[in-house]
Amino acid sequence: MEKMISGHTRLAALFAKPARHSISPAMHNLSFSETTTDAIYLAFDVEPEDLATSIESIRTLDMLGVNLSMPHKMAAVPLVDELSPAAALIGAINTIVNQQGHLVGHNTDGTGFMRALDAIDVSIIGETITVIGAGGAATAIISQAALDGVKVIQVFNRKDDFYPVIDVKLQEIAQQTGCRISLQDLDDQGALADALAKSQLLVNATGVGMKPNEDVSPLKDTTLLRETLAVYDVIYNPRETQLLKDAKAAGAKTANGLSMLLYQGAAAFELWTGKQMPIEKVRALIDTL
Ligand code: NAD
Repeated sequence: MEKMISGHTRLAALFAKPARHSISPAMHNLSFSETTTDAIYLAFDVEPEDLATSIESIRTLDMLGVNLSMPHKMAAVPLVDELSPAAALIGAINTIVNQQGHLVGHNTDGTGFMRALDAIDVSIIGETITVIGAGGAATAIISQAALDGVKVIQVFNRKDDFYPVIDVKLQEIAQQTGCRISLQDLDDQGALADALAKSQLLVNATGVGMKPNEDVSPLKDTTLLRETLAVYDVIYNPRETQLLKDAKAAGAKTANGLSMLLYQGAAAFELWTGKQMPIEKVRALIDTL
């Protein structure tokens, strides 16, 4: 479909470094076109020292808003006028909405994850889950799951320099949401076995298993997998990680990170336009990328 750019066309964008490899422009430009929204989406490489002026330009240029990715998600927090409750809890934003010059920061990674679970008919509200990893993706997932009413979240991370910092952050999320959240060493196989036995869902929120290390899994003991333990992997390259292969072999429901990516984009699109993203068309497009 040919697009006419006029004096009225609004701009949305990605601010990241690197930004050029992103599939967000393809997702949003197809969605603008399919919903006859007079807007375009571009990707900009933004250096950390240029983030403040870039965010100011959202107001100056009357942009619809932006997505933010590495390394700007946390640094952008003090640069907006308001934060959504989830963004405040997570302490990072991936979307800014320009409401007549008032910039509101959101984090749609967590809502994207929850919608991705809905899409495979996995319900975790009131249930117990286990999350491997406690970085940016994990914090968004844990915060949104806790806000939405997951009862217990058992987090496992390697004992690196961030471990004590993560512990403090997780307790803050627990206090603010009433969710029971624990942090344990990923090397403690006994604790991991106990946690998985009680869980309805296992999430890999680390990059372990990503290309080119696709034969590695963050879960070494595959006997801990079972049919009634759904497994979500935030990785989408490869589409089927070793963890997902093992979970499938155990008969479990599985999904890769492509759905989280799709639904975080859909949530941002809805915030900017008030319209639904044409999910199936966008899914078909990103499946080919
Ligand atoms: P991050 O650097 O903030 O966190 C990485 C986490 O992985 C940390 O908890 C770290 O301790 C753990 N980790 C790293 N290497 C490890 C190893 N060898 N063994 C055990 N644990 C290890 O990164 P992030 O932004 O949270 O991203 C994590 C993954 O999630 C990446 O693969 C990223 O591409 C993916 N991601 C996917 C989506 C999506 O929409 N699907 C969104 C965001 C991030």
